[in-house]
Amino acid sequence: MFGTSAGNTAGTRHWKLLKIRSLFLVLSPECTPYSNIQNLNMRTPMGKAKVEAARRRGDVHLMFCVTLARRQMDGGRYFVYEHPKSAVSWDNPNVAKLASTPGVMRTELDQCEFGLVSEDELGKAPAKKPTSLLTNSVEVDRMMSVKCQGGHRHVHLMSGRARAAAHYPAKCCRALCKGMKRQAKVDASGMLSTLIMAGWHDEVGEVSHVPEPWKKYWDDISGKELKPDLVRAAPVPRRRSSR
Ligand SMILES: [Zn+2]
Repeated sequence: MFGTSAGNTAGTRHWKLLKIRSLFLVLSPECTPYSNIQNLNMRTPMGKAKVEAARRRGDVHLMFCVTLARRQMDGGRYFVYEHPKSAVSWDNPNVAKLASTPGVMRTELDQCEFGLVSEDELGKAPAKKPTSLLTNSVEVDRMMSVKCQGGHRHVHLMSGRARAAAHYPAKCCRALCKGMKRQAKVDASGMLSTLIMAGWHDEVGEVSHVPEPWKKYWDDISGKELKPDLVRAAPVPRRRSSR
């Protein structure tokens, strides 16, 4: 498993990731420029220019993440791409195209169910932080599709609390690892089944289609050898066969 995050968004070393061939690649591009909260910063021309510049830089990273995800798929491997559910980056053409690719699932989860907590004036409480994943792993999708069951209040991740909550809770990481492990197991058992099935097909092929040039036929009375093609087309009662 190898992840990309805000910490390595820039620089040519980024492209070294193209050489990595891990079974799973977790992609977590920086989401701050795409947050709804940025709408508040876009109310002034200067603020708008700043946000747009940050999104242009972010778009390069998104494109890179999509490239990596496609390379994983092309190589028969897996990726997990994560961004907040409300991020405007889901409208990015590259991301939208990846999301609509056959075999790619969009998984919705609420991080309060994975133990994300934050604190406000009322004290500590779960933070919902609805999150979306794109993945081509069925097992990751199954494991991570957990929505809020209610029964608790949510701390809203405003006023700087969003940055403090920009980490995955341990339970979330464990669930993700479990999903990846299950996928690897399923794939391993699937390969075994495929090999067994392939063997069966070979057996059937030998019985049904392999010609038998070694078979020869003789006339019982004259003892002369008969032409095999004619014998097979119109069986003659008076014949014996030998290998
Ligand atoms: Zn909740």
